[in-house]
Order: sequence, then C-alpha cells, then structure tokens
Amino acid sequence: MTGYVEYEGDVYRPPSEARSVIIQATIGCSHNRCTFCCMYRNKRFRVRELAAVERDLVNAASLYPGAKRLFLADGNALVADGDFLVAVLKKARAVFPTLERVAIYAGPQDILDKGLTELRQLAQVGLDMVYLGLESGSDTVLKMVAKGATAEQMIQAGLLVKEAGMLLSVMVILGLGGKEFSAEHARETARVLSVIDPPYAAALTLLLDERAPLYRQVQQGRFQPLSPMASLAELRAMIAGLEVTNCVFRSNHASNYLPVRGTLPEDKPALLQAIDTVLARQDPDLLRPEGWRAF
Ligand code: SF4
Repeated sequence: MTGYVEYEGDVYRPPSEARSVIIQATIGCSHNRCTFCCMYRNKRFRVRELAAVERDLVNAASLYPGAKRLFLADGNALVADGDFLVAVLKKARAVFPTLERVAIYAGPQDILDKGLTELRQLAQVGLDMVYLGLESGSDTVLKMVAKGATAEQMIQAGLLVKEAGMLLSVMVILGLGGKEFSAEHARETARVLSVIDPPYAAALTLLLDERAPLYRQVQQGRFQPLSPMASLAELRAMIAGLEVTNCVFRSNHASNYLPVRGTLPEDKPALLQAIDTVLARQDPDLLRPEGWRAF
C-alpha cells in the first residue's frame, strides 16, 4: 500500500526546485526574524524525528519512483545536527536510487557552524547543492532587515560550501535597501557575489506580505520601496558590478518586473542591453504588472 508524505503548513522551495520531491527535514526557520519574510512566522521551529522523515522518504519513493531531484525543506534545514542529516541523506539515496541532485536551504551561520569537515561529509553522502539567502551584500541593509549575519560571514559561508565540493546558489533581493540604500545595496551585493563567485545566483524582487514587519515600516513611512523602474535600475547596477567567472544568473522569478536570465560573464552585455532598452523607454507596459507578481 502506498503511504502519504506529511507536510506541515505552507512549504516553500526555490523556483528551480519546482520539479523536485520535497521532504521536510525541519519545520520552520530557526532564525525567523528577517523583517521582510513571513514564510515561517506561524511555525514553531524544530527538527523532525528521524523516523518520520525516513517514513516520508519511503512513501515519496513509492509515489514518485524514478525521481531525479530531492529538496530538503524547511527554511534552513542545514541547521539540523550533522548525524541526523547524514542519516536522512543515506536513506534518501537508498530509497531513491535514481536521484541526481539533493539540495537544501541553509543560513550562513548553519554553514559556518558545520565547518569544512562536516560539509564535506554531507557532500560525500549525497548533499549536492546548497541555497544560501544572501539577500544583500550591504552590512547596513543586512542589519536593517535583521538578517543576523554580516557580509563577511556570508562570504565565508559561500566559499565554504564551494570548498566542500557542493553546488551553491545564492539568492539576493532587489529593493531590499529601499530608496535610501539602493545604490549601496546594488554595489555591495555585486561585490559580495563577485567574491563568492557562485555557479548560480538569483535576484528576486522585494514583495511584501502584510504580515511582514517591513510592510508595517512601509505603512509608517519608515521604508520607501523602490518603484518598478528603480528596481530595474538597481538590477542593472548589480549586474554591471558583477565580476564572476561562470555563473548562471537569473532574475526571472514571479516577483521580478522583467525576466532576465543569462550566463555571466559572457551574457553580461546582452543582459545590460535588454535592461537599458526598457529603462530608456520608461514604459510600464514592458514590465510585469504589479498584480501579477507573486512569491
Ligand atoms: S528569510 Fe530565510 S532566514 Fe530569514 S526568516 Fe525567512 S526563512 Fe528565515
């Protein structure tokens, strides 16, 4: 008899994991304080029982035989104990022999706490990819949104993932510095991304749920969001400042006003040209309508 996979609450995953089997190794986010995020506000953070995760893996394998990709949720599942993650990964590889990629969300501190030896061990038992939410390379912005890490910690964490032999995808958020810090946000985010030099980077655009603390700051006039065109100009500045060696750069999430995708550095001139064309015309009809944007 085929069982079912348990999911508690809303389950979030990166856009590129849309076709992956998703298993919750943890529930919620252990940080849960970023002012722009309310994904896990209604969940009490905890690591799930190993037996429950293993049961879900077995049931998922009977529901999705031949699955090629697995994503371990929730918010920062890498925070879980190393022995627990090793056991989850071994079970996953055993019940899904066809897996080509296992990925996980991680916070910078989770990566730094694990250290190189433990990260390498996780890579050896089948963890292939880590998604890191940089959000901004500006310390001013990181502090303002209560990200709980500095730009330098982000750099160390990103480099550690690469050194451990895993793929790294770094996410940033356009507009996170508002009008006040837009230039600094673009400049410093490009700088930090360039130092990390990840194989994948994604720029989403700030979209606030009314439950997010930053939404209240907007209502109170304490944070001035960027206009769609200013957000696009920020994206342009960010791409212009990127000095990476081989990075698939995407800004084509449902939250973005203008879908953009390319491999840097070779596609940089084409991406900038595409953005400049829209910026020159200043025609809002060329952008995704506000009501069509989504998380
Ligand atoms: S942005 Fe990431 S680290 Fe911050 S509260 Fe949301 S899930 Fe947690």
